[in-house]
Amino acid sequence: MTGTGGRRIAVVTGGSRGIGRAIATRLAGSKHAVVVNYAANMSAADSLVDEIEASGGIAIAHRADVSDVDQVTAMFERVSADLGPVSVLVNNAGITRDNLLMRMSVEEFDEVIAVNLRSAFLCTKAALRDMIRARWGRVISIASVAGVTGNAGQANYAASKAGLIGFSKSVAREYGARNITANVVAPGFINTDMTSALGEKALSVVAGAITLGRFGEAGEVAAAVDFLASDDAGYITGQVLSVDGGMAL
Ligand code: NAP
Repeated sequence: MTGTGGRRIAVVTGGSRGIGRAIATRLAGSKHAVVVNYAANMSAADSLVDEIEASGGIAIAHRADVSDVDQVTAMFERVSADLGPVSVLVNNAGITRDNLLMRMSVEEFDEVIAVNLRSAFLCTKAALRDMIRARWGRVISIASVAGVTGNAGQANYAASKAGLIGFSKSVAREYGARNITANVVAPGFINTDMTSALGEKALSVVAGAITLGRFGEAGEVAAAVDFLASDDAGYITGQVLSVDGGMAL
């Protein structure tokens, strides 16, 4: 680690808002130097870096579309030069382009697969080099309850999230012998910009399907990620941890 005061370096894709922001904040609080990746919203990313630095942490913001191989390569080169080797990767960036299958365009399908799944392939590949060298690493991917149960209107999104589960289990098998773990956190409905688009009626229908009777908070997902990133979770790999208030029971 170069210049991070003994902190492990964690890259959080889509770390500027919502669940990723809570994960970045939480990891910074548990002594990680955090890379806040974002796609477009520079002010959100910069404000988070300011918050982390104000509380004594270390963070940098880096704009990169994580579905683009050149931008991902450039991001990991910068992390290596500015901070040092990556120990923790959180594949969090994600989008929805919901539509019924018969109306779903090829573009809607491909864009969701690229941002939600190809991104994990690109970022994990880029981060593994450092982890293999260090013989220590944590790859944590944020899937969704939709990837476990399927969801009408989300064939593209559910496929991308189910794909993340198979991807993560394969990484776990390929790199377990190098002391690298790969796990998935599958949130249910969490209060973020992504879910604020749902109308009042949809919100009450969804809440009725959740065992705990409420939406989750981003910090509740971040707590699970922080645990999986820790030394305490060293014997857990290839798992899918649902943080969904019992929705997929
Ligand atoms: P959000 O509030 O919409 O935030 C999305 C984040 O991803 C933003 O930081 C955004 O950056 C970034 N992003 C989007 N496209 C990107 C790209 N191509 N490259 C890099 N960054 C990109 O979403 P969220 O609700 O926090 O969701 C985070 C993850 O949790 C997603 O994978 C989502 O599928 C999953 N999830 C969410 C829920 C939920 O209920 N909210 C439930 C299950 C799973 P900008 O700020 O620059 O746009």
